[in-house]
Amino acid sequence: MQALPTMTTPPPLLVRNATLPDGRQGQSLLAEAGRITAVAAALQAPPGAVEIDAQGWLLSPPFVDAHFHMDSTLSHGLPRVNASGTLLEGIRLWGELKPLLTEEAIAERALQYCDWAVARGLLAIRSHVDVCDERLLAVRALLEVKRRVAPYLELQLVAFPQDGLLRSPGALANLKRALDLGVEVVGGIPHFERSMEEGARSVQLLCELAAERGLRVDMHCDESDDPLSRHIETLAFHTQRLGLQGRVTGSHLTSMHSMDNYYVSKLLPLIAEAGVHAVANPLINITLQGRHDSYPKRRGMTRVPELMAAGVNVGFGHDCVLDPWYPLGSACMLEVAAMGLHVAQMTSLAGQRACFDAVTLNNARILGLQGYGLAVGCRADMVLLQARSPEEALRLRAQRLCVVRGGAVVSRMAPAVARLSMPGRPDSVDFSRGFHTTAPPGAAQAPSLE
Ligand SMILES: [Zn+2]
Repeated sequence: MQALPTMTTPPPLLVRNATLPDGRQGQSLLAEAGRITAVAAALQAPPGAVEIDAQGWLLSPPFVDAHFHMDSTLSHGLPRVNASGTLLEGIRLWGELKPLLTEEAIAERALQYCDWAVARGLLAIRSHVDVCDERLLAVRALLEVKRRVAPYLELQLVAFPQDGLLRSPGALANLKRALDLGVEVVGGIPHFERSMEEGARSVQLLCELAAERGLRVDMHCDESDDPLSRHIETLAFHTQRLGLQGRVTGSHLTSMHSMDNYYVSKLLPLIAEAGVHAVANPLINITLQGRHDSYPKRRGMTRVPELMAAGVNVGFGHDCVLDPWYPLGSACMLEVAAMGLHVAQMTSLAGQRACFDAVTLNNARILGLQGYGLAVGCRADMVLLQARSPEEALRLRAQRLCVVRGGAVVSRMAPAVARLSMPGRPDSVDFSRGFHTTAPPGAAQAPSLE
């Protein structure tokens, strides 16, 4: 086991001339001892401060991923690729790969992914970790990765019974062992159990286990095109019954796409009442769902704008990068949000802002992050984007010019600028329109979570 990397207290940091997500321009932000201590139009740098001229670019709280699989990431092609592109072949393929895995190889791939994440301004990730393995190899590997990346990235782990809590022998005992080792969230996969009844029983068992231990819950729930897959109703019921409001997440919820509208009109208020968070995984849902359809093909993503309108907190997850389920991806939460925006047709200004929030503020709520945001007193975690507004960041998948964690710069990236050789035209160009809109009425001011 290697020593934990140490972080000394960084010098004060002053970011000047930034645009904030709420549209305020020319803002300075001061960070001292890892916290934001001032945000104002003009601030003086204290002696010895590191200074960054933001040149009017967008300064945002960091990206947060509410749904990922760090134990399978970067394993694409091992031992073969997913030929059908379906969820079920992906699960079979992962089963073939599991006996070949080593703790070292899982950790090495996860650490490489965390480097990508930090460079992309993604500083908090909730990752599911498969517990259907007597050796708990992936659990041990990711607990070590969590310890090693802690200075620059918050990794939250979910005990995930990939092969079914009741369907896979020993899964419940292994899940409890994983929690004993320090995994902090209870996972599940009710739609993969042998019957609807077993699925409902798994939801009840897991919610009761979480209530007993004071833990959060995040279940893969109804990741199916079957409109009768209704485990989200059971999840909302037990959340409400056990007083777990605000601590439970239903991930995927893709069956809602195919459900009867009348039933959904009853379901949405139940999810909202129970304070269950919803996570859509746009890149994965649009590629895995609808695979049994001819034409027209269902999109499969859950009803994002309708959930939001019902008062449910909705986040977007990346879910997979280069693994048995998805052969693409690069830790870019702007790509995730842009796909969500397209699939849900959230092209209005308010819709675009909501998609930006879904990979920042909403995901921070799902993880229960403390001190997230750009207000005084928040952790000094932020990303400077080469864009003038959140919607421009989405349009351009903007460069992460600078990433700050705990008041220290942890990554820098050169601006994307093309050098032109076209007589009569400028000699360089970026893709910013130099134009941005103001925040829509009711948009959050200086988003923060305490
Ligand atoms: Zn997943």
